[in-house]
Amino acid sequence: MPIVPATTTNLQQAARLLRSGQLVAFPTETVYGLGGDATDDRAVAAIFAAKGRPSFNPLIVHLAEIGGMAPLVAFDSRAERLAERYWPGPLTLVLPRRTDSPVSLLASAGLDSIAVRIPAHPVALALLRAAGRPIAAPSANPSGCVSPTTARHVADGLTGTLAMILDGGPCPVGVESTVIDLTGDVPTLLRPGGITRETLEAELGPIALAKASDLGGPRSPGMLSSHYAPALPVRLDARSPRPGEALLGFGPADGAEMNLSPRGDLTEAAANLFAMLRALDQPRYSGIAVMPIPDHDLGAAINDRLRRAAAPRA
Ligand code: AMP
Ligand code: MG
Repeated sequence: MPIVPATTTNLQQAARLLRSGQLVAFPTETVYGLGGDATDDRAVAAIFAAKGRPSFNPLIVHLAEIGGMAPLVAFDSRAERLAERYWPGPLTLVLPRRTDSPVSLLASAGLDSIAVRIPAHPVALALLRAAGRPIAAPSANPSGCVSPTTARHVADGLTGTLAMILDGGPCPVGVESTVIDLTGDVPTLLRPGGITRETLEAELGPIALAKASDLGGPRSPGMLSSHYAPALPVRLDARSPRPGEALLGFGPADGAEMNLSPRGDLTEAAANLFAMLRALDQPRYSGIAVMPIPDHDLGAAINDRLRRAAAPRA
């Protein structure tokens, strides 16, 4: 499965592969995506198979232009406002599915809504434009494991099932998009991510948090409690390592094996999170202990991923 640089020629080839129903991994500003034609049931089924992803966990559908979304989903004024302001960007909107939407029912797990996003990465945008159709793209890693933020991470995790991996360097944001559900009267945050809740509330007013009872339920089928998990156990809010543990620091940290951000910067920490969890996931340690991360701004997304990484495994 070749890793190739994102040259114009390779982008054209990747777009051809997508149009012929094959899978291509590509960089976005959040994490690397595993792309397939969202209107092709077989391509979508191949995404679920490649990831070992439960088919009740729907995929985000990506496009380069907002104009291309009108046939797929219904925008209300809130959705238009957010799209105008934050697209391209790390924000996913869950919107009512149009009855004649061409998106595979499997991609949205049979729900009457579809999650859509325009990513802010030049390679992703060029590929989506060249493909000229909606592309379903979950993170390009085996389901439940740490998300990939480099092309190498993709190749290490997914074997054999991909036609091409486009290399666009490390992902600048490093945690997944914020997912907000706009199908009801009150906007609901399904997943904290690259755009903070505080920022969205300034735009929309109060945003509800998905209730714990929704998590794993029909509202947010993908919010499984164990996710983003390295092989080693993860311990949170650690002040110092226990014998055998690797300490993942944040801010000034004596004895840390690696540090998400020595200067305590949440944006830098988000960009480093998945790569450092992977780097420390080695049999010579007994576990990964992570120092406390403040819960504001991007810290909310970081802590969400860490809580799932530390959750009891299925
Ligand atoms: P990922 O595959 O990592 O990009 O995650 C996509 C996230 O969006 C998962 O948590 C899904 O459960 C969520 N999602 C996608 N489509 C929908 C939808 N129609 N309704 C609610 N959540 C969705
Ligand atoms: Mg994922």
